[in-house]
This record gives sequence, C-alpha cells and structure tokens, in this order.
Amino acid sequence: MTGKVYLVGAGPGDPELLTLKALKLLKSADVVLHDDLISPEILGFIPSSTEVQNVGKRFGQKRISQTEIHALMVQNALLGLQVVRLKSGDPLIFGRAGEEMEALRKAGIDFEIVPGVTAAFGAAANARIPLTHRQVSSAVVLVTGHHAATDEFADWPAKIPTDATVVVYMPGYDYLSTAQQLLRAGVPGTTPCAIVSQATSSNERVHVSTVEDLHTSPRLPSPTLLVVGEVVRVAEPAALRQQFDWSNDFASAGPAFSASQERAE
Ligand code: SAH
Repeated sequence: MTGKVYLVGAGPGDPELLTLKALKLLKSADVVLHDDLISPEILGFIPSSTEVQNVGKRFGQKRISQTEIHALMVQNALLGLQVVRLKSGDPLIFGRAGEEMEALRKAGIDFEIVPGVTAAFGAAANARIPLTHRQVSSAVVLVTGHHAATDEFADWPAKIPTDATVVVYMPGYDYLSTAQQLLRAGVPGTTPCAIVSQATSSNERVHVSTVEDLHTSPRLPSPTLLVVGEVVRVAEPAALRQQFDWSNDFASAGPAFSASQERAE
C-alpha cells in the first residue's frame, strides 16, 4: 500500500506552539524530512527509531535541491511509509508547498497539510504588535524580501495601502534597499517598523525604527522578519524596553512613539 505525505508546519520555534496534530505525526511518522529552521526542542519529540533528514537549504547555499526533496517524499511514500515534511511556521507561507503538492499529485501520492503558526504571528504576539487595528490597519500584507533560491530581491505589489501592516519575510540585511522598496510602494518614510529576531525563542530581540531610518538598524541574528506599519506604535513597552532605556512611559522614546497611548485600544 502506498504511504502518505504530511506537509506539517512546526511554528516559529517555541515548541509549545506546535499543534497537537503535528506532535502526533512527529511521534508516529516513519520518515521526517525537515527544514533548517526547526528548533532542536521540536526535533527532540521525534523518536530515535525514526529516520530523520535535514533537507534544508541555507540562505543562497544549496545543499539538496527541491527536485531531490520531491523525489525523497515520493520514493518513501511509494515504499508505503508515512512521511512528515516538516517546515518552519506554516507550510503554505513562503514554504514551497505549492511545488511539493504538485510533485505529489503528479506521482499520485496522497497528502495532507497540517497548518502551523507562521513567523509573522509568533513575532507579532511576542512583540505585542497587533497586526490589524481598527484605527490604523485594516489589511495585512505578507511579502518576501528575497527569493530563497536566488537571493534576489522579490517583486512587491506596486502600491501598498497606507493602512496596511506589511510583514517582510527573509528581509536580509540590505535595509537601505528594503526601505527604498517600501517607499516605492507608497509606504511613508515616517512609518514605524520593527525587526524581530529569533521570534518566540528565548533569544528573541526586537529593534524598532522607522522606514527612513531603517538603514541604521543593527544586524540582529537570523531568522529575522520586519513588521512595518502604524501598529508598531502600539507594541507593548515591555517588549521594546530592551532597545530603549525607557523608564515607564512611551514619551521617553521620542516623538515617533508619543502617539502610541492615544491609539491603544
Ligand atoms: N513557512 C515559514 C516561512 C519560511 S521562510 C512561516 O510560515 O513562518 C523563512 C523566513 O521566515 C525567515 O527568513 C524569516 O524571515 C522568517 N522566520 C521564520 N522563523 C522565524 C522566527 N522564529 N523569527 C523571525 N523570523 C522567522
């Protein structure tokens, strides 16, 4: 009998953000093919008898090709095995799930998608940034800064609405170019933004800036993502205190954040 492939989201890192379904599958799978970004705690849930392979590609530096990943999933399923293809965050967000589903359909392999908490949601929750806000943000746009395979800047929508929150996955460190792309898409230079590094891990760090000052930001350890929008003003001070030496109020952060308390719901 042919096996089955599960495209499973592992969430942004914190093992407690794994779904029960993902945990169950990790414990029962015959084979786990996982990406680079999966935290060691999550890999620790996999029984030692399970075949585990890291098929991740480090940024711009290929280790195993996408075609080889497709072949591994198909071959194992044809042997009758249950295969978990474990991806960081949610498998359907910048996770190449589209290509993998196509390969599985072509080979006639049964598959199922198990959603996960995407990095934007984990980062926003920990940094206390509401992604929507009835006064300042009525849309969320998820974009990728780079194409993972080629390391080239990705094309963005020509016009991003000013009342949208933008989350940039894979922003890289060329903050000047990212800021220019945001400005070209109509995002005002004064819009606040937050770089969130290693979201949901114990090493998480948040750096707040504005689009026009983004280029002066430090290179925080990867993975990072960038949240851009007026909603960043609403971030809880505690989450930002590590960057600014704040006493107790927003006012000490300067004019960029003085509007925060009025806007907070
Ligand atoms: N499918 C994943 C995204 C894969 S692309 C998801 O839904 O989250 C990989 C990018 O996701 C990284 O370059 C980074 O921008 C972001 N990312 C993943 N985990 C992250 C984390 N813990 N903290 C910050 N960014 C993260």
